[in-house]
Amino acid sequence: MAIKRDTTDHYFSKAIRMRNDWTCEKCFKCDDNAKMTNKSKFIETAHVYTRRYRHTRWHSDNAIAACNACHRWFGDNPPDFYIFIKNNILGETRMDLLMRRKSVSRKYTKAEKAEITEHWKSECKRLEKLRMNGTQGYIDLIDYD
Ligand SMILES: [Zn+2]
Repeated sequence: MAIKRDTTDHYFSKAIRMRNDWTCEKCFKCDDNAKMTNKSKFIETAHVYTRRYRHTRWHSDNAIAACNACHRWFGDNPPDFYIFIKNNILGETRMDLLMRRKSVSRKYTKAEKAEITEHWKSECKRLEKLRMNGTQGYIDLIDYD
């Protein structure tokens, strides 16, 4: 069953896509228009572990920016996606940490959830400012916890 996207997902996803300046992390296809509008029709957020796992759901290591074609390819080829993430994005240590994080069950209170939303909202604002000031390429995100 599909998991509903909420406000936290919205800002988290936006931050993930702004991090790599609206560019697919696999094929490097870029949405130049999104750099102005901060909205894209084809740059999406691909999650390593599905949004079902709360502890990794809004962690920056758990998602990459991907064009719709690469996102679909990842979905159709989970083992290849895993290898891509491990070899090209996270490396063995961070991949291992992400796996362990996913395995630890975590529930957030309403107040914590509101804090996470605010956190990603403010990350979007921070990245917007950096982009306006001419920062290009990949910008590391700060995680909530
Ligand atoms: Zn792509």
